[in-house]
Amino acid sequence: MSETLFGKIASGEIPVDLLYEDDEVVAFRDINPQAPVHLLVIPRKPIPTLNDVQPEDAALIGHLFLVAAKMAAREGIAESGYRTVVNCNAGAGQTVYHLHLHVLGGRPLQWPPG
Ligand code: 5GP
Repeated sequence: MSETLFGKIASGEIPVDLLYEDDEVVAFRDINPQAPVHLLVIPRKPIPTLNDVQPEDAALIGHLFLVAAKMAAREGIAESGYRTVVNCNAGAGQTVYHLHLHVLGGRPLQWPPG
């Protein structure tokens, strides 16, 4: 499997301003923000889509959400409200095939999403 853009960001091959990093995940700002706060939290492990998550990834996925909540608090959107999104496959708008959690907030968010 060829390495994706986010795989290269996670490994440090492509430098970006990381807002958070640990052994398991990194977080950074989306290059094309859809809200005043739009972050991406990604595992270092190259998992292409949510469909590829395995039972042994359960703790990693939980950690992804814990970091998302921590980042939302840091960005000041935890109380006003924010949304986490995982687009799975092309029909849902996935464009980068390395699992990533969008964290969006800082404006009222409509439901349902388009
Ligand atoms: P997807 O559509 O796959 O759920 O989300 C991919 C996201 O990655 C998009 O929101 C897009 O703006 C963002 N993105 C694409 N290329 C880059 C990049 O080079 N740097 C950053 N920070 N975000 C990117």
